[in-house]
Amino acid sequence: MKRILVAGAGGFIGGHLVKELIREGHTVRAVDIKPLNEWYQVSEKSENLVLDLRLRENCFRAVNGFNEVFNLAADMGGMGFIENNKAACMISVLINTHLLIASKECGADRFFYASSACVYNGDKQTDPDNPGLKESDAYPALAEDGYGWEKLFSERMCRHFSEDFGLVTRVARFHNVYGPFGTYDGGREKAPAAICRKVIEAGISGKKEILIWGDGQQTRSFMYIDDCIKGIIDIMYSGISEPINLGSSEMVSINQLVSIVEDIAGYRLERKYDLNAPKGVRGRNSDNTLIRQYLGWEPSISLKKGLKKTYEWIASELSEGNDGKNSRRFNR
Ligand code: NAD
Repeated sequence: MKRILVAGAGGFIGGHLVKELIREGHTVRAVDIKPLNEWYQVSEKSENLVLDLRLRENCFRAVNGFNEVFNLAADMGGMGFIENNKAACMISVLINTHLLIASKECGADRFFYASSACVYNGDKQTDPDNPGLKESDAYPALAEDGYGWEKLFSERMCRHFSEDFGLVTRVARFHNVYGPFGTYDGGREKAPAAICRKVIEAGISGKKEILIWGDGQQTRSFMYIDDCIKGIIDIMYSGISEPINLGSSEMVSINQLVSIVEDIAGYRLERKYDLNAPKGVRGRNSDNTLIRQYLGWEPSISLKKGLKKTYEWIASELSEGNDGKNSRRFNR
C-alpha cells in the first residue's frame, strides 16, 4: 500500500479523497491550514496535520517520508470569491511551488495537481452554447484573471518538474465540482451549493423568492464529487502527462440549475436577478473526448441525482437545532 500526502485535506474535495484513499487501505497524511475543527471531514485513520503550505519548510515537513502527493490546497472559492480576491488566489502559487520542490528533494514518485477550467481562454467562452472546451483551448493563454493564471502557471511548473527532474506529475482541470461536505455559505460557496441553500432558506423563511447572479442564462457543467474522486485517482495512476479535463459535459444554464433544485424542494420561487453580481464567463462546458479515450471515464451520477444528495445534506445542516457548523465535522 502507498504512503500518500493529501494537501488541502480539510477542504471539500480533499476530505472526500482522504476518505477514499483510506478505504483503499493506503497510509494517508492529511494536511490543511485550517484548525482541525473546521475541516469538512476528519478521519481518525489518517495522520492529520495543520500546516500553512505556503511555507517551504512546512511543505518539507508534509512530504517527508511520503512518496505520493495530491495537491488540492488553494485559497479559493466560487466566482464571488475569485473575482474579488485575485492576489490571494495567486499566492496559492507558493503552495504548489514548495510542494513540488519538497517532492523532488524528498524523492517522491508521483504528484497530482488540481487545476481548473478557469485556465481556459476567455474568448472561447463568450457563447452560452459552448460546445465544450478542449484541452488545447487553454492556449493562446487568456485565463481567468488571478485564479486562472495561477492555475495555468502551476500546470506549467508541474510539466517542467517532470521534464527536468523526472518527477511524474498529473494535472486535472476540474469543471465545477459539487456534493456534500463542502462550502455552502460564507462567500466561498459555488453555484450548486449556493442555490440549494437559497432554495432551502426560502422554504424555511416563507419568503418565496431567490436572487440569481447575472441573468441566469450563463451556462456551466457540474460534476458530482464521487465521479470527481474516481477521476482524480484514475488520472493520478494513468500515463497521461498533459493536463486533462475532469468534468461533466451535461451543460445547463443557471436558470435550469435553479429549476432542478426547485423540483427537489417541491416549490417554485420568484426569481430576481442581480446583473451586477460576479458571473464569470458566459458559457463553459467540458469536452470529454480525451478522458473518455484514455480512461473510459464518464460521469456516472446525473445532475438531478447529485443535486438531490447535496440538497439533502445542506438541508440537514440548516435544519432546526443545528447551526450548520458542527454536524459536518468528524463524520467518521
Ligand atoms: P476547498 O476550499 O474546499 O479546499 C481547499 C483547501 O485548501 C481548504 O481546506 C483550505 O483551507 C486549504 N488551504 C488553503 N490555503 C492553504 C495553505 N496555505 N496551506 C494548507 N492548506 C491550505 O476547495 P475544493 O473545492 O476542495 O478545491 C480543491 C482544489 O480543486 C483547489 O485547488 C481548487 O482550486 C480546485 N478546483 C476546485 C473546483 C470545484 O468546483 N470545487 C473547480 C476547479 C478547481
